[in-house]
Amino acid sequence: MILDGKALSEKRLEILKEQIEDAGLYPHLATVLVGQDPASQMYVRMKHRACERVGIGSVGIELPAEATTQEVLAAVNRLNNDCDIAGILVQLPLPARVDTERVIEAVLPAKDVDGFHPTNLGKLFSGHPAFVPCTPQGIMTILAEYGIETEGKNAVVVGRSVDVGRPMAALLLNANATVTICHSKTQNLPAIMRQADILVSAIGRANFVRADMVKEGAVVVDVGINHDENGKLCGDVDFEAVKEKASAITPVPGGVGPMTIATLMENTFRAARANSCTRVL
Ligand code: NDP
Repeated sequence: MILDGKALSEKRLEILKEQIEDAGLYPHLATVLVGQDPASQMYVRMKHRACERVGIGSVGIELPAEATTQEVLAAVNRLNNDCDIAGILVQLPLPARVDTERVIEAVLPAKDVDGFHPTNLGKLFSGHPAFVPCTPQGIMTILAEYGIETEGKNAVVVGRSVDVGRPMAALLLNANATVTICHSKTQNLPAIMRQADILVSAIGRANFVRADMVKEGAVVVDVGINHDENGKLCGDVDFEAVKEKASAITPVPGGVGPMTIATLMENTFRAARANSCTRVL
């Protein structure tokens, strides 16, 4: 079974558009982009396009690559205090000279639609999630949509980043899976991966996950966005070989990626609904 994240995201965006209309709200998402990294610029454009599609207004704050931490913090603070802004997304990575932790912590947790603020991550890990990082939340939506049971399953998450691996593990744990988190220092990684009923790969290496690392019938979720030796977009998983062994698998492109953006839109709507701040005209 191919887990079609593209089709699911289309469906979710259509539903969301109706919900936003019905709620009579016009939520706004603000993006903060520092510098001119082409990949970051592309991601921000994609997010703004998704906003437009569902009836969310978007505000793009662009700062030069030389911006200081103070300047980025000032931009975030202005957005925190702007009643019209429901959600704030700081596009990562920030240039090395900017203190990323301070910037993430400056975003009001109630506007933190990326779910990276320590308050939101803490809530997730304590089993009472508020805003959850979009990529792992989108993966949980895919699993639920396709009726993939998590309770009691062995889930192995390869990668321990704050944006994907760690929150993914917390979500699977909250959903009653037995979770193992692996990383670059893990020993006997293939043997651990072969134990997985649900295998999530968030490493960032083309064709890292081979068929001999996957248990027969496993559900395989490929988060990676890489390019192969021919420059073609691919995930972490050797898709053609692994799909013969897996019971279900996400493709790249068209799997996890589109669901990340759909989840961002859903989080923004949620933030707007919870926003008690009323603008005085
Ligand atoms: P990071 O680079 O932050 O994390 C990568 C993780 O993989 C680290 O924990 C690292 O271990 C681990 N790792 C690296 N090499 C190995 C190895 N050989 N064996 C075991 N573990 C290894 O990346 P992200 O989590 O941000 O992203 C991962 C991938 O997912 C990237 O390709 C990224 O582009 C993609 N991505 C896709 C999204 C989507 O929407 N589809 C969204 C976000 C990311 P250690 O901690 O020890 O260094």
